[in-house]
Amino acid sequence: MERPYVMTVSGPVEPEALGSVLMHEHLLCDLTAPARRGSGEPEVEITLENHFDVNYSPGEHLGNHRLHDRDLAVRECELFRKSGGGTIVEMTTGGIGPDLDGLVEISRRSGVHVVASAGFYTEDFQDPTTLELSVEAMTEIMIGEVLHGARGTSVRCGIIGEIGCSWPLTPFERRSLQAGAKTQRATGASITVHPGRHPQAPHEILDILDAAGADLSRVIIDHMDRTYECEDAEVVGLARRGCVVEYDFFGIEVSKYWMGVADLPNDWMRLRAVRRLLDAGLGDRVVLAHDICTRARLQTLGGHGYGHLLRNVVPLMRERGFAETEIERLFVHTPRRLLTIG
Ligand SMILES: [Zn+2]
Repeated sequence: MERPYVMTVSGPVEPEALGSVLMHEHLLCDLTAPARRGSGEPEVEITLENHFDVNYSPGEHLGNHRLHDRDLAVRECELFRKSGGGTIVEMTTGGIGPDLDGLVEISRRSGVHVVASAGFYTEDFQDPTTLELSVEAMTEIMIGEVLHGARGTSVRCGIIGEIGCSWPLTPFERRSLQAGAKTQRATGASITVHPGRHPQAPHEILDILDAAGADLSRVIIDHMDRTYECEDAEVVGLARRGCVVEYDFFGIEVSKYWMGVADLPNDWMRLRAVRRLLDAGLGDRVVLAHDICTRARLQTLGGHGYGHLLRNVVPLMRERGFAETEIERLFVHTPRRLLTIG
């Protein structure tokens, strides 16, 4: 297909075909803490009795952070479609169990467009060989993932990242960002970054990407929800640097953050933060998602599912006076711009 196109796991599609887009989700992944992997403990079975507690302390229940059931993912994507959804950007990068063939099957069976992601997650999830890769070697791998096919398949990635970063940033993660910038220059794909858990982390990341030649208007900084207090005007300052900021914990209504360093907002508070960005004239620099990566958040298992934003939050937005054009910009136009390779 002639450019411009969006690269999905099923090949290039017209940008207009995406519909409403979730910019940061996981369909198949394994985010089990490295120390607990292969421990031999039994995986949790989610029941009505334990669902609240698994969701309240998601990391304490082995298996909750492993999504591996393709049939279940198809069902979840069908529910997303029923809620009016069109496209899911799947953020499972190297280290947390990417399964490209699985994504192709889920997309084909559910009719949801799926965009796969290139690159590497945080250092603690990598094997020793990967940690030794140079910027050049990482760039070559990532360009291959975007242009030819990822992880031994012919399935091409449509976005770079989520590039995993810790606080403080490790040398491996710094090289990963630099390789991301070089891959963007070679391919035109957008970059999306999971920042370390510190208010300075996004700024350090933008400095590194900028110095390596990245186009910051095609850089998304993820997880605003746990990086800044929702009342904090810092997010406005970050977006003013020219990047896109992402609120991607929608549906998490638990105030206790399982990683322990932030008080999480609820959906209303997220919407107030989004409103502040719109009022500051930054409405084309914010995107939304759920970042589903646990079983307890799947609709089939009693959670809110991938359709929550469209099914429940959009009506809240209307109630709070968001204009239809603003809603469409958040779910359709800004994602389309970011995913289009021109
Ligand atoms: Zn992340």
